[in-house]
Amino acid sequence: MPSLCNAKRECLEKQLGLKFEKGVTKFVAKCEFCGKKIEGTIRISKYNNAWQVNVNGQFHHLDGNHDNNDPENLVLLCYTCHKRFHQWGVIQRWLKKCGKTVDDLPDCSSLKVYFNGY
Ligand SMILES: [Zn+2]
Ligand SMILES: [Zn+2]
Repeated sequence: MPSLCNAKRECLEKQLGLKFEKGVTKFVAKCEFCGKKIEGTIRISKYNNAWQVNVNGQFHHLDGNHDNNDPENLVLLCYTCHKRFHQWGVIQRWLKKCGKTVDDLPDCSSLKVYFNGY
């Protein structure tokens, strides 16, 4: 299993279709869900080891296990999509608890969120 930094590196290299050189490289990637531009910087040691990855977004662990640094388990997301993925998890668990599926929900796309009432 690669280190988290090296897993992030592999994830980025796959998306960008390139191999990072040793040293510091700036790059522009994208959110793998909505396509929003995500800028970042990566530092790779002379031993070809990624030791710092900074991105204007977040790497999400698909299986929810933060110890699973398989590059296939990581997706680069913008902050909004990452938040929504986790909110979607809450909705899915709620549906399961109610014995419903997403098809049982009415169209709520015009509804607003109120914090002190309905
Ligand atoms: Zn996004
Ligand atoms: Zn996540």
